[in-house]
Amino acid sequence: MKITGVQIRQVQVPRQHRTIVGTGVDTPVAGVGDAPTRSRFAFLLLQSDEGVCGLGEWSDLEAGLEPAALRGPLESLLLGRNPFDLEAIFTAFPFDRSTRCAVDSALYDLMGKALGVPVYELLGGCYRPQVEVSWVVYIRQPELIGEEIARMRDRGFGAFKLKVGSRIDHDETCVRIIRETAGPGARLKLDASGAWTLAEAIEYIPRLAQYGLQAVESPVQGRGAADLARVRQAVEVPIIEHVWDRWDYVLELVRHQSVDIINLFPEGCGGLFRCKKVLALTEAAGIGALLGSTVELGVGTAAQVHLGVSSPGITLPSDLIGPAMYREDVITQPFAYEGGALVPPSGPGLGVELDLAQLERLGA
Ligand SMILES: [Mg+2]
Repeated sequence: MKITGVQIRQVQVPRQHRTIVGTGVDTPVAGVGDAPTRSRFAFLLLQSDEGVCGLGEWSDLEAGLEPAALRGPLESLLLGRNPFDLEAIFTAFPFDRSTRCAVDSALYDLMGKALGVPVYELLGGCYRPQVEVSWVVYIRQPELIGEEIARMRDRGFGAFKLKVGSRIDHDETCVRIIRETAGPGARLKLDASGAWTLAEAIEYIPRLAQYGLQAVESPVQGRGAADLARVRQAVEVPIIEHVWDRWDYVLELVRHQSVDIINLFPEGCGGLFRCKKVLALTEAAGIGALLGSTVELGVGTAAQVHLGVSSPGITLPSDLIGPAMYREDVITQPFAYEGGALVPPSGPGLGVELDLAQLERLGA
């Protein structure tokens, strides 16, 4: 099979509400606007000489990024290549990790469609039937968080991740509300997004842990392996950190015994192929992992779900909230949560198809 065509389409989609994370400064919470914002996406369509098309997604693009401008350079790289040649294509890959992720997803979609199997069968097979999701709660006013948790609890979610790192009193109020609303059995993680100093992390984590925490993510500024290790030694709550595409950083975290769990996801790592390699490192080191998110639409979510069901190394509920955080999607059969979990589509490849009328309507 050979790649014969490259197309890129961009869209804009509104979120349910603003998604604010801890910044290390005094995030203004009271009176902060909660109006929905729009996120920009791009989709990669790789045509092949076997008549099948592979899909990839650039999720929640930062301002100024225009993947459509990459069409020519991607044609130079990919036309005539065999989609199964992952190592050859990704060695000395000249683009950023988001583009690598979009290409990786489209290659896996092509491989699965060519063979007539779902992508998870190329990633180790069906290890579990579904991926459990922890609903991610951003920095919002406490009464809005109370309503949000009640709504998601009633939709079947039993795991939550709260973004903290604004004012500690505000954070504590929100943790208490989530525990009261979600119930004693709910699993609750916190994500400080690197907002705390070392001293703050060591002071605040035990204070928030009285409400029962499964883990705390990115507790300290800079995310240095030595500082993370100091936090981990000082508190009794398991520590999570992102590894992005710095997979050498996994080794550093292991050497310093800095974390119990890593956060990885295809856009952060640069695709499914790289994620599986990182998971091999975490499994060897005896540490857990969860799938983080850049808040994907349907194509990106599909890639994540195929990874999640095929990976024993994913040990905690994951952050795949895109299908409920965006008000629209671009696939013909959008994902629906079943008891707070996502099930992979059964069709070949990623198992999703672009809704061309939606692409046109949301085009940017
Ligand atoms: Mg995080």
